[in-house]
Amino acid sequence: MDRDRRLKLAVQKSGRLTEPSLDLLVRCGLKLSRGKDQLVGFGENMPLDVLFVRDDDIPDLVQEDVCDLGLVGRNVLEEKRLALEARGVRVSFETLRLLDFGRCRLSIAVPKDTAWDGAGTLAGKRIATTYPHLLARFLAERNIVADIVTLSGAVEIAPRLGRADVICDLVSTGSTLEANHLVEVETVLESHAVLIRTPVALPPLKNDWVERLLMRIDGVQQVKESKYIMLHAPRAALDEIRRLLPGSESPTIIPLEGHPDKVAIHAVCRENVFWETLESLKRAGASALLVLPVEKMLS
Ligand code: ATP
Ligand code: ZN
Repeated sequence: MDRDRRLKLAVQKSGRLTEPSLDLLVRCGLKLSRGKDQLVGFGENMPLDVLFVRDDDIPDLVQEDVCDLGLVGRNVLEEKRLALEARGVRVSFETLRLLDFGRCRLSIAVPKDTAWDGAGTLAGKRIATTYPHLLARFLAERNIVADIVTLSGAVEIAPRLGRADVICDLVSTGSTLEANHLVEVETVLESHAVLIRTPVALPPLKNDWVERLLMRIDGVQQVKESKYIMLHAPRAALDEIRRLLPGSESPTIIPLEGHPDKVAIHAVCRENVFWETLESLKRAGASALLVLPVEKMLS
């Protein structure tokens, strides 16, 4: 009965995706009644419960229909997709949204003193990775034959231990590579978090909540950089000021009582508004400038 009414969403229990995933859900209006150290968080104001698990288990939980939805990195999802396909299992998760967190890339990195001359240099090398299927696809697409050494962690120290010649691992800032005297040379996959769902048809009530959640996620992602800007402008400078407003579609123009030569302009700018822009607006004749963050947006 409950299963027909409450959505189950899988989120990483403790790691790099945990905080941004929970932050997204809070911005979507969800109040969770239990701390993240517990296995399940109960949605107090939405029929949605959060299951806290290892990120590697999230595609399986959705694939096996234990959870309806999951927040997971594209790297983990694509590796799982290839692993399932290799076993002849039909993949059954759908990507609903690309999210703006969890950015990283799966890259090839080599010891600093390696002579690198393109991906062909990998031929015959031992490559350590926790992503054997993504790496195998990368090599196959380039007709390169190399030895894939599958590890469960600590990939970056494999060359020093003599277990591999090069590595294929997740990179964001590159500081871990630097610390291990490795240089990034090729990108295998660009990654970010995604929202996935089971392709199994959901009962109407649950489906409605998936739709509502998606609308809220879109709203949250849209407003991240958006600003609401208000200013006074001489009518004569209207064209130039409209041109200077970054990423705004149709500003609202309001007459100013007692100032026939002036108007107030209100606009939503879909980009951040920098000091330089404000200075240009001021030079063009704008005054009483005010920039406000946008909290929610529905269109
Ligand atoms: P778990 O115990 O859940 O298996 P883990 O050790 O596999 O955790 P984390 O290091 O927390 O995982 O990374 C989780 C995901 O975060 C990665 O699979 C990737 O999608 C993303 N990620 C990796 N590195 C970064 C980074 N530097 N910045 C942002 N996101 C990243
Ligand atoms: Zn993991």
